[in-house]
Amino acid sequence: MKLLMAANWKMYKNQESARATLVELATRIAPLPQDREVAVFAPFTLLPACAAAVQGSPIRLGGQNCYPESEGAFTGEISPGMLQDAGCTLVLTGHSERRAILGESDEFVGQKTAFALQLGLDVVLCIGETLAQREAGKLEEVLARQLAAGLADVPASVPPQRISIAYEPVWAIGTGKVAGPVEIVAAHTAVRHMLHNNFKENASQVRIVYGGSVKPDNAKEIIALDNVNGVLVGGASLQAESFSRIALA
Ligand code: PEP
Repeated sequence: MKLLMAANWKMYKNQESARATLVELATRIAPLPQDREVAVFAPFTLLPACAAAVQGSPIRLGGQNCYPESEGAFTGEISPGMLQDAGCTLVLTGHSERRAILGESDEFVGQKTAFALQLGLDVVLCIGETLAQREAGKLEEVLARQLAAGLADVPASVPPQRISIAYEPVWAIGTGKVAGPVEIVAAHTAVRHMLHNNFKENASQVRIVYGGSVKPDNAKEIIALDNVNGVLVGGASLQAESFSRIALA
């Protein structure tokens, strides 16, 4: 299984800075070690410019969200097919910012996940607990609920390699507070066990990536941990210099 080293650009950049960042990133990560993949989740309007910039490089392009229908009267939404048309092979579902700010339910995240997979996009499904949930001893309960709902409608025929789970403790996103190795291993190991419900003996083929204040100076230690199969990076992914150091960690 290859590591997934992924960048989440959130609502940052314009076409020129996106293009320049990707061109520089492609140069800095070449040649990409065989054991990893690099992906960038860019804002919708930047996707065509990004697709042109990553051509001929190993960088995969992803959307940050999608709607679980092919087309229709869904003002402001975007379909998996539209993302593919713009050059994407991946999509994020269930990012905590969308759950918290846009009010996305576990079930809606599940619908998006299943539909995107069905239409041919690979999915990175994000799950993670708030600080209050962790302090109330509800870590495993929250992860199990989000994971079960997120994967509920995924057909058994979908190859497990097409799904990655991003464990992103909400209290570690954009805060500079990275989860410690013990916390990361405990959560990832719990998620690995939970994946047996859906994938049985193939659970080991689903990537579980960590997200939350990953930086060039902690990435190597994090990807060396048990059951950590890559990282999802926000703030430190915006500059090619810092993200390339993470991608090559
Ligand atoms: C994220 O947005 O998924 C994320 C992990 O952000 P940051 O790296 O800035 O904490």
